[in-house]
Amino acid sequence: MSYRTHHCGELRRKDVGTTVKLAGWIQKGRNLGGLTFVDLRDRYGITQLVFNMDTNPTLCEKARALGREFVVMAVGKVAERSNKNPDRPTGDIEIEVENLTVLNKSAVPPFTIEDETDGGEELRMKYRYLDLRRDPIQKNMLFRSKLALETRKYLDSVGFAEIETPFLIKSTPEGARDFVVPSRMNAGEFYALPQSPQTFKQLLMVSGLDRYFQIVKCFRDEDLRADRQPEFTQIDCEMAFVDREEVLNTFEDLTKHLFKATLDVDLADFPRMDYQEAVEKYGSDKPDLRFDLQIKPLNELVKNKGFVVFDKAEYVGGICVPAQAENWSNKDMKKLTEWVQRPQIGAAGLVYSKFQQDGSIKSTVSKFFTDDAQSEWLNHFGGEKGDVLLILAGKKDKTLKQLGELRLEMGRRLELMDSSEFKPLWVVDFPLLEWDDETERFYAMHHPFTAPTEEDREKMNYTDREVLKNLRANAYDLVINGAEIGGGSIRIHDRQLQQQNFKLLGFTDEEAESQFGFLMGAFEYGAPPHGGIAFGFDRLCAVMNHQNSIRDFIAFPKNNMGRDLMIDAPAPVDKEQLNELRLKLIPKKD
Ligand code: ASP
Repeated sequence: MSYRTHHCGELRRKDVGTTVKLAGWIQKGRNLGGLTFVDLRDRYGITQLVFNMDTNPTLCEKARALGREFVVMAVGKVAERSNKNPDRPTGDIEIEVENLTVLNKSAVPPFTIEDETDGGEELRMKYRYLDLRRDPIQKNMLFRSKLALETRKYLDSVGFAEIETPFLIKSTPEGARDFVVPSRMNAGEFYALPQSPQTFKQLLMVSGLDRYFQIVKCFRDEDLRADRQPEFTQIDCEMAFVDREEVLNTFEDLTKHLFKATLDVDLADFPRMDYQEAVEKYGSDKPDLRFDLQIKPLNELVKNKGFVVFDKAEYVGGICVPAQAENWSNKDMKKLTEWVQRPQIGAAGLVYSKFQQDGSIKSTVSKFFTDDAQSEWLNHFGGEKGDVLLILAGKKDKTLKQLGELRLEMGRRLELMDSSEFKPLWVVDFPLLEWDDETERFYAMHHPFTAPTEEDREKMNYTDREVLKNLRANAYDLVINGAEIGGGSIRIHDRQLQQQNFKLLGFTDEEAESQFGFLMGAFEYGAPPHGGIAFGFDRLCAVMNHQNSIRDFIAFPKNNMGRDLMIDAPAPVDKEQLNELRLKLIPKKD
């Protein structure tokens, strides 16, 4: 017996008169006097079933007794609808049902299985299998499947081989926190789940498998910020005998292919911007280029004019918001000041100058700066009457970051980002090292295997902190619409240089050897020059669909506490399991 001859998104006017068999879930029913209509749904669409009280009362009663989400099979004839639904591909037809079989009943679902559901986030996660019945989420899953397939097709076509690397590896203190897995056979010892296949893919280059990729799960035990998942997926890639240009071109082409194949979007060539420029103009290493509103420094124009806040500040800079001078009231400005002072942004205050249409200027600093002086600032931005200058002052790094946030907020409030547009770019020449005041040491900005640029290589021998802070890495990020989509680098392939880098990162020789001896050992056996990149696959899915949340592109995601609410994980294990692993729990104090 077959359950269906067609699916629920398939039948059209040309099928009128045919007898068909459909199977699916009851979306909803409507009783209209003598007629009962039932929407039958499957992955492909919705088809209307119709039952007639006059011609077949028993069957009609049966249809009326169906509940939401019952699973049924219906046999009937395709008929043209008198009342057509242009919003549905199957909206011209309906099925005059002759035979109805209930394949399974359903309890009343905890939320409506419709495009717009009444279910809250937690409820939807608990019943994720029902949430996954909803069309928008199904579309996301199908998009993801297609994107993975197109990735494989493209990378295969240019000679990449998909090679799996292990999930049970060794914990290392660099990067994020590892998830650890106790070993039963080696009690007292632990595996770690990989944060990425980084060292393995480099070893594959040493092996001569010179174009590797993998669509792979990665695990990071981080406190979950807004849209992070403890397990997520990367398109992880590595190539040997390449320089930066070749890597960027290869993955720019992959990205273009993916946009074309899944969205039919032609992306123009990706601009390149160095890290320094990104930070100085956009206050971020992942600038959203869908709108301009660039940050400009004002130090030269504002310092030593008697305004102590500016005089004391290492950096004064601002953005020029077009055409809002007349729109923003004093109250709006007060609110905006409070916005920049929120702990998440952390500015001390906001200086503004509103250039009114009548030529007057309303400013918080009129006492210190003449109208002429402020007009000079406006010229510096290329602004005009009606614009508002928003100015922040303080430590350079922090202030630029705050201005970057302010810029994005203005972009959102004034709807400056075209939500249908894609603006990719490569950010290049990241710093190699990042100094941390708290722990008093350098951290790798990308990871410890990243090579310095050719020009800066020899400066790795310096000890002067300021010189080291300015070392540039041969590292790059792919950014689309302000989201970091991918990141990678040309790697160190020389044992001495790798050792030196570990030293800069505060490793003793013994620590470096015990944690990464296998990699440095491999470098002694003819390691080719190599480099690569990893794309955040979940994020790429979300950005390509102009959505913010990666969760909606993961079939079974975790919540903000890293919990799977459906299977209720993590969960305690049996005492026996603990004994077997020779583990003992320390009781909670409180
Ligand atoms: N393994 C790196 C990461 O996960 C990417 C790379 O350098 O290829 O960020």
